[in-house]
Amino acid sequence: MHQNGRMLGVIGGSGFYTFLESEVRTVTVDTPYGRPSAPVTIGSVAGHAVAFLPRHGATHEYSAHTVPYRANLWALRKLGVRRVFGPCAVGSLDPAHGPGTVVVPDQLVDRTSGRADTYFDSGGIHVDFADPYCPTLRAAVTALPDVVDGGTMVVIQGPRFSTRAESRWFASAGFGLVNMTGYPESVLARELEICYATVALVTDLDAGIEAGEGVKTAEVFAQFQRNVEPFKQLIREAIARVAPERTCTHCLPHTGLTLPVELP
Ligand SMILES: [Zn+2]
Repeated sequence: MHQNGRMLGVIGGSGFYTFLESEVRTVTVDTPYGRPSAPVTIGSVAGHAVAFLPRHGATHEYSAHTVPYRANLWALRKLGVRRVFGPCAVGSLDPAHGPGTVVVPDQLVDRTSGRADTYFDSGGIHVDFADPYCPTLRAAVTALPDVVDGGTMVVIQGPRFSTRAESRWFASAGFGLVNMTGYPESVLARELEICYATVALVTDLDAGIEAGEGVKTAEVFAQFQRNVEPFKQLIREAIARVAPERTCTHCLPHTGLTLPVELP
C-alpha cells in the first residue's frame, strides 16, 4: 500500500490507453464498488510516480454510461493517489475552438441520468461543488502554451450524440464543450478528497454548430487519434509542474464529520 499523496493519477479517455514513460508494474485493485475499468499501471512521468487507468477499459469495453466511475476513483485513492488529471475527448460548441484545441474547463453542467454519482448514500453528507475543479491542477495545464483557460463543459448521458436542438440550446446557454464522462468522475473525486481537473481535447464541432451532417463516431475517434500523442505530452508537461502531495485547501477534509463510508 502506498502512502497517501505519493503518486499522481491520470484517467485516460478514448484513444488514451498507455501513458507512462516507464512502467514499473500493473496492479489489480478490488473496491467495494467492484473492479475499476482496468488494472492500474504504475510507473513514472517527469520523475513523478504516476498511476494510470484507462477510463473505458484496456480495449474500450466500457461505454461512457457504463464506466465504473466509483470503482475507478476508489481504486486510485486506495493506491495513495490524491491528485488526478482526467483527460477526455469533447465536442466543441464554439467555432473558435475547433478540432485539436485543448481546453481546461472551469465549470460543468450535469445532464447525465441514472449514474451512481456518490459514495454517500446515507449520513447527510453534502460536498461543496461550486467550483468543481482543482485550481492547482488547472493552473499546471493552463500555464502551457496554446491551452484555453476556462469554459463550461456540459456532460450528456450518451452514448448517443446531441440533437441539433440540444446543441443549439447548450450553445445559447453559454456552454462551450460537450462530453460524456466528466460527470460523475469529478464529483466522486471531490467526495474522496482527491484534487481533480479535466483536460479536454476537442475532436469535433457539435451538431447544430457545424453546418454539416452532425457528429460521426468514426470522425471523432480519427480526430482523437491524430492529436492524442501531443495531448499526452501536454499532460506529461503538466505533471512535471505539480507536486503529487495534495496541498490544496479548496476542498478541505471532512474533519469532524462521521462519513458513512471509510475512505481508503
Ligand atoms: Zn487541489
